[in-house]
Amino acid sequence: MSEQSRPRALTEPAQLRAWTDEARAAGRRIGLVPTMGNLHAGHLSLVAAARERADAVLVSIFVNPTQFGDGGDFDRYPRTVDADLAALADRADAVWLPSVEAMYPFGPGAATTVHVPGLTDVLEGAHRPGHFDGVASVVTRLFNQSRAEVAVFGEKDYQQLQVIRRMVADLSAPIEIVAAPTVREPDGLAMSSRNGFLDTEQRDRAGLIHRVLSAMADAARAGTSLPAVEAEAMAALSSAGFEPDYAVLRRADLSEPAGAGEAEVALVAARLGQTRLIDNLRI
Ligand code: AMP
Repeated sequence: MSEQSRPRALTEPAQLRAWTDEARAAGRRIGLVPTMGNLHAGHLSLVAAARERADAVLVSIFVNPTQFGDGGDFDRYPRTVDADLAALADRADAVWLPSVEAMYPFGPGAATTVHVPGLTDVLEGAHRPGHFDGVASVVTRLFNQSRAEVAVFGEKDYQQLQVIRRMVADLSAPIEIVAAPTVREPDGLAMSSRNGFLDTEQRDRAGLIHRVLSAMADAARAGTSLPAVEAEAMAALSSAGFEPDYAVLRRADLSEPAGAGEAEVALVAARLGQTRLIDNLRI
């Protein structure tokens, strides 16, 4: 059995600083993969994409309190650091595991925030007020702390990816953003840490989201009117016991298309029991 090499676990800002100093002194290009841990094959595909574009791959694992709303979602978010470090063996060079205090020295509530206007008012932003401020703010910190030249994000969180790209453009952040395709289970369900909250019966039903997205994309391609496609998708989810927040067709920049021919992405958010799932499909 070959000896696997675990990534270096960095828990203190000074340790991260030393690691980035060393990488930069050696002329290595740093690639960052921000995560909240509980790693699955989707996350690992991002790490592989970072490896293709960087010489020193840093994965951050931080369950960021400022991007969660009320309701205990932050407390019950799965934390599996040991398994995550094992999964990253031979894949990442270092893992950044900051405490909440390291990330927010003056407390999360008192922290400087980054707000991306417009894009964050719709869809996820409308259903999770403040969520994207938390995301943009923590990602800015991670960019600054890691001094990465490239960072990889999943298309699974399509709106998040757009928000990060806009933020980087607006702030002239010296970093390249790479998007990685969504990794799915055999029935089409997008891999997600939240899938672990589904019971067996809910898990069997969850594949419907991807089928609904595929049907929306097909209907848009066929030129069906957008309101009709969206209404049918909402009805299909509701009648299968989901509580959908939205099922919409949008342009790639998330603006509203004038007609079916302009729809470039289908997006769904729906609750199944206590678990809220999001997914999307490019058309
Ligand atoms: P999270 O740990 O959920 O914050 O996700 C960390 C990163 O992994 C984000 O850029 C996500 O978009 C990405 N990600 C999550 N699930 C998947 C998936 N199934 N396929 C590809 N990327 C994913």
